[in-house]
Amino acid sequence: MLRKMEKISVVVPCYNEEEALPLFYEEMERVRKQDFEGIEFEYIFINDGSKDKTLAEIRELRNKDDKVRYVSFSRNFGKEAAMMAGLEAAEGDYITLMDADLQDPPSLLRKMYDTLKNEHFDCVGTRRVTRKGEPPIRSFFARVFYKLINKMSEVEMVDGARDYRLMTKQMVNSIISMKEYNRYSKGLFSFVGFDTKWIEYENIERVAGETKWSFWKLFKYAIEGITAFSTVPLILSSVIGLLFCLIAFVFIILIIIRTLAFGDPTSGWPSMVCIIFFVSGIQLFSLGIIGQYLSKTYLEVKHRPIYIVKETEKSKTEEK
Ligand code: UDP
Ligand code: MG
Repeated sequence: MLRKMEKISVVVPCYNEEEALPLFYEEMERVRKQDFEGIEFEYIFINDGSKDKTLAEIRELRNKDDKVRYVSFSRNFGKEAAMMAGLEAAEGDYITLMDADLQDPPSLLRKMYDTLKNEHFDCVGTRRVTRKGEPPIRSFFARVFYKLINKMSEVEMVDGARDYRLMTKQMVNSIISMKEYNRYSKGLFSFVGFDTKWIEYENIERVAGETKWSFWKLFKYAIEGITAFSTVPLILSSVIGLLFCLIAFVFIILIIIRTLAFGDPTSGWPSMVCIIFFVSGIQLFSLGIIGQYLSKTYLEVKHRPIYIVKETEKSKTEEK
């Protein structure tokens, strides 16, 4: 009996990538023809509510190549949602996630595939060892973030890990079984376990278009990561509260002793004001932390869909 051909699904989230997309497709096809003889491929492009001609570009690719499949969202839902949609749509035995901007070099794929097969891993991920071409301040905060989150969370987050990875269908199934709304995939990939091998490479700058990540967006993403994978900040307010009670207790004793010994001269207005500001600041800060978790819980219990599909290659064919 003829063995079924193996299939690799290439999942590519795209948001305003009209310039990069044709370049990506060309390069990926070149690599496929060169390195992947006898292995079937499918491309799954997720149009994440792009405002430019990305969807038209994808449709065109579909028209000339049957391997191309796509999912188009009704609006921008973010890269996490796009990855989820792609993983759900993928039908291959092995599934890889790639950016459309060629920052995740397709030429690495063969090496990843060989490692996965020969060394029996469930996942081969990529890590960039340099952050060349990135503003230094951004790299600095990224480092701080990884230090912090690894202290606070049980799940290990690898510094410099990219979303570019090749996974077995089994691992992908376990990832899509997690239907949470606030998706922090670096954590999810790590949470599901399985054996992951890291391949290192130098950072590459995007071929065309520009990054969608502003500093503010990254900051919010970091908060997302912390609230999704750690409850340590919640304990923080209890610890600070307890500490303050102890300090207050010591002060009360000191003041009683002082009053008994020296009488009661009225003083300490400025220090009182400082204390009030300080303590109320801490209170608001703690309240804010609780608010963060509460808001995530709120969004989670609504059970809203992670993304909404407007068009796929199948719906398009039925229309005709
Ligand atoms: N992306 C997406 N939805 C978004 C933002 C980004 O699907 O809301 C895609 C984008 O098209 C690209 C990938 O996610 O393929 C990575 O984005 P980008 O290159 O801007 O991030 P960076 O590489 O700078 O971290
Ligand atoms: Mg990029």
